[in-house]
Amino acid sequence: MEVEDIFTDILERAKAIDPANARKWFDNLTVSHLDGGSLVINCPDETVHRYLEEKCKNSFTRAAQQITGHLIAVNFNVDAHEKHKGDARTDTPGLRLHPDYTFDNFVVGPSNRLAHASCVAVSQSPGNTYNPLFVYGSSGLGKTHLLHAVCFEARRKFQNTVIQFLSCEEFVNRFIRAIEEGNLVGFQSQFRSVDTLVIDDVQFLREREQSQEEFFHTFNALYNNGKQIILSADCPPGKIPSLEARLISRFNWGLVARIDPPSYETRVAIIQKKAHLRGLSISDEIAEYIGRKVHANIRELEGALTTIYAVATTTNREIDLELAQIALDGQIKAAARHISITDIIGVVTSHFDVRLADLQSKKRSQSITEPRQICMYLARNLTKHSLEEIGGHLGGRDHTTVMHACNKINQAKDNDPKMSTLLNDLSKKITHPVQT
Ligand code: ADP
Ligand code: MG
Repeated sequence: MEVEDIFTDILERAKAIDPANARKWFDNLTVSHLDGGSLVINCPDETVHRYLEEKCKNSFTRAAQQITGHLIAVNFNVDAHEKHKGDARTDTPGLRLHPDYTFDNFVVGPSNRLAHASCVAVSQSPGNTYNPLFVYGSSGLGKTHLLHAVCFEARRKFQNTVIQFLSCEEFVNRFIRAIEEGNLVGFQSQFRSVDTLVIDDVQFLREREQSQEEFFHTFNALYNNGKQIILSADCPPGKIPSLEARLISRFNWGLVARIDPPSYETRVAIIQKKAHLRGLSISDEIAEYIGRKVHANIRELEGALTTIYAVATTTNREIDLELAQIALDGQIKAAARHISITDIIGVVTSHFDVRLADLQSKKRSQSITEPRQICMYLARNLTKHSLEEIGGHLGGRDHTTVMHACNKINQAKDNDPKMSTLLNDLSKKITHPVQT
């Protein structure tokens, strides 16, 4: 078999092992040589080289071992033919974009439509539409994703464009280092010669007077030259603590786009998109379940998916609704920290149309016993209260009574689908009182 053919197989295997990275990073790879237990793979440029070395070496090593049946060490190498092309390109060194943070992978909904549309517009015509573009929203709502997507798209469209992307902290650190090294001129020319400057999380500019000053000058220099500036923050310009007025006003010159927390429909679509990206197939039912359970931000949605996937692989089970519920139980419990027994009693009494006084009384009719036991069960599962405390809230009953109630409801839940549905519905009402 030719080396090229072996490499083709190895590449295919590596793609199967690491589909997420394969989509962006495994193109244009060729084999340099394969001998003496060592495989050297050529990659087109330094950026790809660094990324593969850092993130993909294991996948390639596994793939190579599986295909050849030998222990093979994998190394990457920048293709000599491509090397001069790489030098000629004006990519900013170190521009590292997350391969998944593209427009294609971004789910658009009412909460982020404006931010998305303005990012797309800017990527099509940097410097000419909204300048600066200021995107803001709470943590985990997709700001960094959109900023990366702009860079991907701009770079695809304008191959020679120079983009500088960095977090605000990096900007500040580089500035401080430049001052320490007495190389402010170098710092300035580095930032003022770019076509697009992207700074993520500018809320960290606060209280750093000197860097605000420097940023102000960088901003002006770029702006006056028609260069694109894109910024993100967790709040609007005027709310960034101790940001100078003149910077606030600069930030407001262009377009300020807010991202809100996603609606239920958008959350479900995002889960489906993320699952798909990871090569997982999950039913609508499960996507909807996660979408209902998790709504703080999108990072947590992804975390939920990861947890479910991890539980499925470690227990070797299919991902079904029950597994999703079990997997997320810990998270739900964490989210339930703030739930009080009073909340639970409120929902249960209103569902069964009984009074709290009845639950606390000595009455033992079925119509009272059942809601009382359900209260105990839910309090046990949704709060951190002890058996004694729960008993105390329900007419001063002792812990064995509460334990008995929990066991009884647990059994009923396992044997009676109606009970299981009822408990789910009640839990939902308690954990997400205003949720659809
Ligand atoms: P932020 O920078 O606002 O804190 P990120 O951009 O890091 O948030 O987003 C957190 C995670 O949520 C990322 O994995 C990102 O891909 C994902 N995400 C956020 N919004 C969306 C969306 N609309 N569609 C798909 N994924 C999203
Ligand atoms: Mg971010």
